[in-house]
Amino acid sequence: MSPMPSRRALLAGTAALALAPRARAGDDAPLRIGSFTVKRLQDGLFPLEPRMIPGAESEEGRVLLARAGLPPAGPSAEPVNAFLVRQQDRAWLLDAGCGTVFGPGFDRVAGALATEGIDPARIEAVWLTHLHADHAGGLLTPEGRARFPAAELVLQEAEAAYWGDPASRARAPAEMALFFDTAQAVLAAYADRLRRVRGEAVLAPGAAFLPLPGHTPGHAGVTLEDGTDRLLIWGDVVHSRILQFPHPDWTVIWDADKAQAEATRRGIFDRAAAEGLTVAGMHLAARGRVERRGGGYAFTV
Ligand SMILES: [Zn+2]
Repeated sequence: MSPMPSRRALLAGTAALALAPRARAGDDAPLRIGSFTVKRLQDGLFPLEPRMIPGAESEEGRVLLARAGLPPAGPSAEPVNAFLVRQQDRAWLLDAGCGTVFGPGFDRVAGALATEGIDPARIEAVWLTHLHADHAGGLLTPEGRARFPAAELVLQEAEAAYWGDPASRARAPAEMALFFDTAQAVLAAYADRLRRVRGEAVLAPGAAFLPLPGHTPGHAGVTLEDGTDRLLIWGDVVHSRILQFPHPDWTVIWDADKAQAEATRRGIFDRAAAEGLTVAGMHLAARGRVERRGGGYAFTV
């Protein structure tokens, strides 16, 4: 079974779009974190099927989906996000969406940037949470060239090493070929301005990576902090708000190391709940806070 949504599933997802939870008014207003302004850029919506979160192929999964007003067998329409981070006249991008890798229905980041009045040449760096195609595909034009002509591409050393290593590809399921092709095309297109960093590397004053490994070896979120304001944009810690807050043990089929992904998710849920952190994610429609609820967690916006 393909680990990726098939083209047919993506098209079927247009039905799921009508079921997409409506973001609360104001959710998409730019968020100010001290002197930073953060804007969610939605690249598209993809239909998440329970088979992509195998724990959800269960009575409990069907109940959670039905309780959310969705068909018990899914799918749920989940966003693919990038984020624009601005500070005075500086502009950075956090991930870049799918580009044209997954066909029609995506690649809206470029238009969203234009709406914000940002020319791609003004992006000084792209901070990449990981090299999956729904985050890195948008770094390329349809012709496969660098879409951000002046941007440094910053990512974790472990991430660049994994996707650039022929041995990783040889070990991975054949269905991951498109992910490897995209990752390697991105690494090649930005080869002369790649910045490989380790750990909690500083990205700009007040902005730093936070390693959250498991989904991929070098998967990392980004923290923004200025004065008493803080935001964590945690990449792919969660693919389904409906399913994975009550069940942090439900991993996605794309997780490279499922045990590590689960441990990372529980750890950052606990930390976010304890610190009252505002969090946002690449597959969350709104920013919010994590709290403990029952044996699991809940996300409140
Ligand atoms: Zn993703």
